[in-house]
Amino acid sequence: MSLDGRVALVTGAARGIGRAIALALAGAGADIVLNYAGSQAVAGETARQIEALGRRVLPWQASVADAEQVNRMVAGVLEKMGRLDILVNNAGIARDNLLPRLKEQDWDEVLDVNLKGAFHCIKAVTRPMLKARYGRIINITSVVALSGNAGQANYVASKAGLIGLTKAVARELASRQITCNAVAPGYIETDMTAALPEELKQTMLKGIPLGRPGQPEDVASLVVFLAGPGAAYITGQVISVDGGMHM
Ligand code: NAP
Repeated sequence: MSLDGRVALVTGAARGIGRAIALALAGAGADIVLNYAGSQAVAGETARQIEALGRRVLPWQASVADAEQVNRMVAGVLEKMGRLDILVNNAGIARDNLLPRLKEQDWDEVLDVNLKGAFHCIKAVTRPMLKARYGRIINITSVVALSGNAGQANYVASKAGLIGLTKAVARELASRQITCNAVAPGYIETDMTAALPEELKQTMLKGIPLGRPGQPEDVASLVVFLAGPGAAYITGQVISVDGGMHM
C-alpha cells in the first residue's frame, strides 16, 4: 500500500471529514494519530474502526489552539510511534454572524482553532520532518476562502489565512522535500453543515454543477493522494473538492 510504514497525525479526527481522512489514510497503509478535542466516546469508536483495518492507532486528546497541548502530543507521538510523516490540519470551528453582531470572542475562538491551531501543529512537526528530510502537510481550508461568504468573516479570514500559511510553509520547507498543500472543500455533509438552515442548503445546492453535496470521503481521497508518493512534486497548491462550486 502506498502509505505503508508512514505515521499520520490528523487533527479533529473523531468525526466528520477528519474521521473520513483518518480511515482513508489507514486504508492506504498509514498508522494514525487520532487527535480529538471533545469527542472522546466517538474517538474510541473511530479508533476501533482504524484498528479493524489492521493499522496502529494512537488516540490523543488535545486542543490545537493550545501550543503546550500540541507540543506534548507531538512529543508523545514520536515517543510511541517513533516517527511522524504526515500532518493533516483538519480541526475547525465556525461561529457565524453578520459583522455588526460578530463578537470579538467569536473572532478570536475561530482564528485560534482554525489558523493558530494549524500554526502550532506545523511548528511542532517541523523539527522531526526536517530531520527526516521528508514530510507531507495538508491543510483543510474552504471554498469560502476563495469566494468570501456573508456572515462568516471570522471563518473566511481564518481559512484564507490558512492558504497564505500553506504557501509560506511550502516555500520554507521545500528544500527538505517537505510538501505543504491546502484542500478546499465545498458543501460537505457533516455535523458542521447539518446545523445550517434548510433554505441555505437548497441555495448552496443550486450552485453546485455536479448537483449534490459532497461526502467526507470525497475530501479524504484527495488527502490520501496528496499524502502519497504520486504527489511528491506538488507543493504550495490549493485544490478544491467542491463539485465545481468555485471555478
Ligand atoms: P465538524 O463535523 O464540525 O468537525 C469538526 C472537527 O474539528 C471535530 O472533529 C472537532 O473535534 C475538531 N475540533 C474542533 N475544535 C478543536 C480543537 N480546539 N482541537 C482539536 N480539534 C478540534 O466539521 P467538518 O465538517 O468535519 O469539518 C472539518 C474541517 O473541514 C474543518 O476545518 C472545516 O472548517 C472544514 N470544512 C468543512 C466543510 C463542510 O462543508 N463540512 C467545508 C469546507 C471546509 P471534537 O469533536 O473532538 O471536539
